[in-house]
Amino acid sequence: SDQNLAYNTEWLQQQDNQHYLHPFSDHKTLREQGARMIVRADGVYIWDSDGNKILDGMAGLWCTNIGYGQSRLAKAAFDQMNELPYYNSFFQCAHPPVVELAKTIGELAPAHMNQVFFTGSGSESNDTVLRMVRHYWTLKGQPEKFTIIGRHNGYHGSTVAGASLGGMKPMHSQGGLPIPGIHHIPQPYWFGEGGDTTPEEFGIQAARELESAILDIGADKVAAFIAEPIQGAGGVVIPPDTYWPEIKNILARYDILLIVDEVICGFGRTGEWFGSQYYGLEPDFMPIAKGMTSGYMPMGGVIVSDRVAGTFEQEGGEFFHGYTYSGHPVAAAVALENIRLIQENKLVEYVKNDIGPYLQTAWQTLSDHPLVGETRGVGLLGALELVKEKAGRVRFDSELDVGGMCRTLSVSNGLVMRAVGDTMIISPPLVISHSEVDELVSKAREALDLTM
Ligand code: PLP
Repeated sequence: SDQNLAYNTEWLQQQDNQHYLHPFSDHKTLREQGARMIVRADGVYIWDSDGNKILDGMAGLWCTNIGYGQSRLAKAAFDQMNELPYYNSFFQCAHPPVVELAKTIGELAPAHMNQVFFTGSGSESNDTVLRMVRHYWTLKGQPEKFTIIGRHNGYHGSTVAGASLGGMKPMHSQGGLPIPGIHHIPQPYWFGEGGDTTPEEFGIQAARELESAILDIGADKVAAFIAEPIQGAGGVVIPPDTYWPEIKNILARYDILLIVDEVICGFGRTGEWFGSQYYGLEPDFMPIAKGMTSGYMPMGGVIVSDRVAGTFEQEGGEFFHGYTYSGHPVAAAVALENIRLIQENKLVEYVKNDIGPYLQTAWQTLSDHPLVGETRGVGLLGALELVKEKAGRVRFDSELDVGGMCRTLSVSNGLVMRAVGDTMIISPPLVISHSEVDELVSKAREALDLTM
């Protein structure tokens, strides 16, 4: 605890308990235990109100790609607020930051994707996608192409459409989701569901689940398939190498649109600008958010293929969709400065050629730990599968929340890791240095030792 900041933690927790309804929280446990108050941050570190310094192995919620304390982003926001704090892009208007941002993103995206629709978050981006997909097929004269196929355990946000597209059962159980016209297939999660197959066999098998679903529903009724390149919130589920090529073949065979949710993988996390480039995909839609502003301002978007944008243009007719804050000028100015910083510091190349391989090699050293059944990762994403017995991948009994224990111990030990069931995951800021990776991995090992 090298920072002694005079915050009254107890008072803050009392007020928090009385007034603040937290997202994604069990309010009973939260009220009993009190929230940890995070008060400042710099580089890859955050500090709590008791002065504890913690390495943020999750980049906030997978979003502070550029790291904390980048004052150029603050300056960009300040300048834009003074120049033009708000104006909309409805009713045939636009403004320079949003135009420049759309152009910049179009240049970074795969070559066939050049137009961007802006939103305020990843969830709004996926709501937008759902409406755009159905609008597209209606314009094409095939409105019966309506069903969107997602995956069990996929995460596409928390709004009604986002949570419906996602495959999180606990979310579906609250509020009668999914909405009609959404179907889910199994995920390509070899460690958890691969049984006796090899990863390569399992990748093909998981991809063919898509084909069976298309044939069951009828190809003339399926509009699109939505997936994260690597499932993030589902536990950093990295598909076997055979998975995406097979998915591509199936989509082409039945003329079905591909939505690649880049909210986590976008903006450098895999060592490419987008996860689609990492896997050689040609999506029709790429929802984005998070790393787009490195979380300094809320902003999301949907990058759209020329095929889809061209159809909107040719057919005409208003698309009745948009948000007051679509393309917000201050958020756009911050996103632009964030992208400039990523470019100037060559962070995507750094992840691909330097810090990504360095982290993956260091992460693999945890494989010898008795609790670890598998270590895996791509770029600056990593996961550890915790097991009771390595042979046969035997899990802990569900009563023992081993992931939760490991997470709590890691945080009190100075490292934020996240637990998804018994899977521990990391996604640090792209600016992390070699010595900070060493610290991350040794603190992760300490947390595992403490958990045993
Ligand atoms: N899509 C993916 C892949 C995500 O990981 C998330 C958030 O974690 C979202 C969408 C939703 O984004 P937001 O929380 O900004 O609404």
